Amino acid sequence: MKKTAKILIPILCVLLIAGAATGYILYHRGVHPSKWLVEGDDAWKSLDYEQTLNSFSMMDNTWQTAVPQTRVYDLIKAHFDAPLPQGKTQKKAIVIGYDGCRVENFRLLENSKKSAINLLLEDGGHAAFCYAGGANYPHSLRQNTDTAPGWCSMLTGVLSDKHNVTRNLQPKDVEPKTLVTTLPEDGVIRKSAFYTTWTGFFVESEATYVHEWKYVRQNHINAKFRCGFVDDLTRRLVNAELKRKNCADFVFAVFDYTDHAGHATGFTVENPDYVSAFREEDAVGAKVIETIRARKTYDTEDWLILISTDHGGNDCGHGGPSFEERMTFIVSNKDILPREN
Ligand SMILES: [Zn+2]
Repeated sequence: MKKTAKILIPILCVLLIAGAATGYILYHRGVHPSKWLVEGDDAWKSLDYEQTLNSFSMMDNTWQTAVPQTRVYDLIKAHFDAPLPQGKTQKKAIVIGYDGCRVENFRLLENSKKSAINLLLEDGGHAAFCYAGGANYPHSLRQNTDTAPGWCSMLTGVLSDKHNVTRNLQPKDVEPKTLVTTLPEDGVIRKSAFYTTWTGFFVESEATYVHEWKYVRQNHINAKFRCGFVDDLTRRLVNAELKRKNCADFVFAVFDYTDHAGHATGFTVENPDYVSAFREEDAVGAKVIETIRARKTYDTEDWLILISTDHGGNDCGHGGPSFEERMTFIVSNKDILPREN
């Protein structure tokens, strides 16, 4: 007996230490044990994630009937194509982009003191599940769940098989042009403005819209492209724009709070850094909406306000086909889904 114990105890100790070390490493890499439960053919899927999405009563649809992210493009087009409502003299639209914001953050809305999403929903707005990647989970991905392809689909209404942006830092040809360019170029609006924190949109030499921006400058199109480099400056630029008497009729503004936190420490609401990034981002969005509502001419302006994201995230990244990377959202002050008669 003593001899057996002498052999077994060191083996058990080694196994215990190895187990603890593996757990520690996986935990700090952000690999949550719930993710180990089910492994599909093409993606990880956590069971509790699906249950969380099913519990979101503020959504007009279910995650199974999520709309493609090109819906953002369709909504903006439809808004500017529609006649002016009575008493309104000017159409305006804004997309407030929360880069890399998992829809699971909606779990936090109930306790959010200052939230753009709540501001819209409490005022008769709508929210809907949306998906990145060109196809809803669990169908095969049609484009990467990355920043450049995602926002490009929302701005052009097509997927990477047509806009040819399959990854970040891959310049798009001038065509297909984004709404930032086509709306003023076609005379639908007077001017547009694209504000971003990320340099990959038009600052870097291989940025997505370097060719389109050059086209805009060469053809004297009234479209502004401005990079804030840090969210705090982007926020100031956007609010300054919206305070102008003749502000851009279409504003496209993308913040990086959630994406930065997700890449640094994990795209999950179990990560306090990610949660606080979402709260800050949603408060910045609320300030943007308050700035719009404080406009002297607000009563005569017909605003479409959209909040959306380009992709979700999983562990410390995105780009893949998992449920969590693919599921996104649209929140709006107007209808997102067609009205049922
Ligand atoms: Zn992104």
